[in-house]
Amino acid sequence: MKRLTPRFVERMPSDLEDGILYIGIETGTILHRCACGCGHEVNTPLGRTDWSFTYDGETVSLWPSVGNWSFPCRSHYVVKKNRIEWAGAWSDEEVEAGRRADRALKERRYGTLETPLQNTEIAPIPTSVPAPTKPRWWTRVLGRLGL
Ligand SMILES: [Zn+2]
Repeated sequence: MKRLTPRFVERMPSDLEDGILYIGIETGTILHRCACGCGHEVNTPLGRTDWSFTYDGETVSLWPSVGNWSFPCRSHYVVKKNRIEWAGAWSDEEVEAGRRADRALKERRYGTLETPLQNTEIAPIPTSVPAPTKPRWWTRVLGRLGL
């Protein structure tokens, strides 16, 4: 599969079609079938520590990447302007590091270990992404302390 076509829906259909990115604004969820063609349903919930998407009126981009580590295919890709951009498969160590980073992010944000059950993990931001322009909070704190 090379592309996903966005479809805005009020209610998620029980049976998903291949090649469609189902976007449920009301429910804050995005569903699609794994782009490798294995047929697994991929759930990428929207949220500040989950996924976000941009829609330019025609195409949709989803961020961060989708890492289907729980599926046998272990496919990993980014949806960019409806196109599937394949990313490399991760080793077990990388998957575990990604999970830890995701948990740490959610703990900082929500102060809890309880995260909704998901079959899909968020991959950490690849190194090719520009660094955030805002300094991290601890950089600001150190700056204020004159360190
Ligand atoms: Zn797959």
